[in-house]
Amino acid sequence: MTSGLANRRRTAREAALKAAVAEELLGPHAPVIGLLDVDGVRAAVADLHRAFEGPATVQHTFAAKACGLVPVLRLLAQAGMGCEVASPGELHQALAAGFDYDQLVFDSPAKTVEELEFALSHGIAVNLDNFQELARVDRLLDGRDATGPIGLRVNPQVGAGAIGAMSTATATSKFGVALRDPGAVEAVIEAFAARPWLDRLHAHVGSQGCPLPLIAQGVRAAYELAEQINETLGRRQVTGLDIGGGLPVDFSTDEDLPGYADYVAELRAAAPGLFDGRYTLVTEFGRSLLAKSGTIASHVEYTKSAGGRDIAVTHAGAQVATRTVFMPDAWPLRVGVFDARGQAKQGPERTVDIAGPCCFAGDLTAVGRDLPPIAPGDVVALYDTGAYYFSSHFSYNSLPRPAVYGYRVDAEGRVTFAPVRSAQSLREVVEESGAAHTEALLALATGTSTSTSTSSSSATGTSSATARTTTTGTGTGTGTEDTVPGRDEQVIA
Ligand SMILES: *Cc1c(COP(=O)(O)O)cnc(C)c1O
Repeated sequence: MTSGLANRRRTAREAALKAAVAEELLGPHAPVIGLLDVDGVRAAVADLHRAFEGPATVQHTFAAKACGLVPVLRLLAQAGMGCEVASPGELHQALAAGFDYDQLVFDSPAKTVEELEFALSHGIAVNLDNFQELARVDRLLDGRDATGPIGLRVNPQVGAGAIGAMSTATATSKFGVALRDPGAVEAVIEAFAARPWLDRLHAHVGSQGCPLPLIAQGVRAAYELAEQINETLGRRQVTGLDIGGGLPVDFSTDEDLPGYADYVAELRAAAPGLFDGRYTLVTEFGRSLLAKSGTIASHVEYTKSAGGRDIAVTHAGAQVATRTVFMPDAWPLRVGVFDARGQAKQGPERTVDIAGPCCFAGDLTAVGRDLPPIAPGDVVALYDTGAYYFSSHFSYNSLPRPAVYGYRVDAEGRVTFAPVRSAQSLREVVEESGAAHTEALLALATGTSTSTSTSSSSATGTSSATARTTTTGTGTGTGTEDTVPGRDEQVIA
């Protein structure tokens, strides 16, 4: 039994693939693109809001790392989401999308002093990761009160799910204060006692591969700690609980399994008090909001056979499906095969491997799949790739970032597209490969390098000073590593 939701998703996706080919958004000249189902994204947001309805105030934020494309963030902002950011790049993407400071949550595990200053001075909610960071904020506030909420991230150490690299709450996880370590709970309570401005607890337990009861157990541990802190201090100091994201996605179906309602039911069973309105809740979902609305579509360049193995060579590989290529067992994707006009292919299935364009043997997005016969000029689609796939490009082989389009399908089946990101041009690929410094190494080797490199060879060392000077000097707009919030509040265009 497929649900109406799953049917709508599939029908819209197939209409979009067909229209993308017809309108030549995809073809020999544009051999790989990303497609995003705009109504699907909005439906997921509505579903999330519905699931958490109740007496508690809830701020839903989208984890920008799952899809930091500015128009997508803009769509989410307009649909009522806030935004969780974990790097200066994500912060500036969110600001460019129009989020207000009080709609942001800043969560990086390695925040610099300047990043913290920026967040604190703009009232952005911050979740601190460890006691050193708490001490750093003490110094920055210097006796003043924080203007935005400040939380402490805790690791409930409830254990791993099926994918080690995706499990944030193991005994030895790098995230947050490990609650089950000796003396940790006491130290956390002391930290809150000494800092009246510390008013939130944060736990992000997940993600992909973690069963719901495990995630709920982690959230419950954070809730119980909040209760314990407030009781011990004899005041309601912890007023907010940020329960993170981490809802897994089933990559084998068009259904939402589990859905947000399933997750909330699990949370209600584990920690009923969480929802009674005493705490402001914050969520930070990423994958579950976007995955099912995204598709990567690739032109098939060649088909071949080697040692009895059939291979279809496409343009979608590790550069857009990085996790699937490097961890195929943990991140399998469904594959659809369409003809050159975008019509779903039929016919007797053959066992085939789907390869990408990267120059390493393991660049495969699907292995040993039974699929309709594939021919050059066909289209291969990778489903459920709306989060962490085309938005998290890997620059292997200097392959350009592909164009991404949003789509809507009306009642008559007509498809409308909107650009989300242009394909990266070859000029941009060359520019971000240091083209502005083409002569620099030759100059160094022949001793004709400019005086910048020798003039500052004192205490701080030369290399970083040189890099900074030159990056700022070129002003190409791609040198974002040199633009630290707090020093430059400009939104990077
Ligand atoms: C990655 C991340 C999220 C989002 O996780 P999903 O599994 O995509 O829902 C939320 N919060 C934090 C702190 C994260 O690192």
